Amino acid sequence: MRAAVFKALGQPLCVERVPDPSTGPDEVVVKVGRCGICGTDLHITEDPIFNAPPGTVLGHEFAGEVVQIGPNVERVRTGDHVSILPVRSCGQCPACLAGKFARCAQMRITGGGYGEYTVVHQRQCVKLPSTVSVADGALVEPLAVGLHGANAGPVTTGDRVLVIGAGPIGLAAAFWARRLGAVQVAVTAPSNRRAALALELGATAFVGPSDNFGEAVNKALGGPADLVFEAVGKPGLLARAVDLVRPRGTVVVLGLCTAADTYNPFQTMVKEVRIHPAMLYDLPEFEAAVDVLHAGDVTPRSMVTETVSLSDLPAAFEALRHRTTQCKTLVDVWGA
Ligand SMILES: [Zn+2]
Ligand SMILES: [Zn+2]
Repeated sequence: MRAAVFKALGQPLCVERVPDPSTGPDEVVVKVGRCGICGTDLHITEDPIFNAPPGTVLGHEFAGEVVQIGPNVERVRTGDHVSILPVRSCGQCPACLAGKFARCAQMRITGGGYGEYTVVHQRQCVKLPSTVSVADGALVEPLAVGLHGANAGPVTTGDRVLVIGAGPIGLAAAFWARRLGAVQVAVTAPSNRRAALALELGATAFVGPSDNFGEAVNKALGGPADLVFEAVGKPGLLARAVDLVRPRGTVVVLGLCTAADTYNPFQTMVKEVRIHPAMLYDLPEFEAAVDVLHAGDVTPRSMVTETVSLSDLPAAFEALRHRTTQCKTLVDVWGA
């Protein structure tokens, strides 16, 4: 089969032939339909902290068709369309039994979506109803990240919410915040080009660059934010979030920042701000993301700004390292 393979830090992915996967007793081979390119994948290919071995096939935001199952598999059948929860875990500890795979001591994040086929544990399969296409199914993972963040807050009815960052994760957080009862949801980004998209996904306001940024945010929200999502992951933004949230408010950290960062503990203490980093999702959150698409709320589709073939994936991937107009790029793995 063909796959886009990670070779070394700082080098482009390379599309080449690799062995076809086969199943263990509890495993499933998935023919990948669509896979999203995620900022985390970019980080993995440039930052030694992730320790990715050469030969890794990345891609953790994908959906496809089950084409082979191991003898113990009961959760799915061949022909089923599934979205993959990209976490492997022991399956037996209390966290795993509760569907909280990310909290398992043995958890590891799996990829494989940048290849024509990949093998996963049956527990990782979340069935897609016929109403949800595999292209929509590839959006389930980033939507689940946003929902996990919203639940971590938690967003409660009547909240004023600020989202720093208008990438797919920030937009997903805004999407869920509104659906969980926030009355005002402002999204902010350094340029105005995502304004329309943010409003489409549920934001009530978009705040672009401004001389008096704090005032502009408060005006957009009708008061200081109860909850701030930091969905970028750059040094300085945690401090900005603490600065913008109301006293005793909450900052949910969704942005992945591997660089050292500082914020002022005194300011955080005086305001008694709760800082809550949120990572991945639980199985019920993943299923809820499928449900919302099944229920007909397909506004997240508008995050997809381009779809590329597997052959074009390496070039599209490199382009995303620089300033780009793309929001979510999907790979149509079998497309020309
Ligand atoms: Zn991701
Ligand atoms: Zn476990």
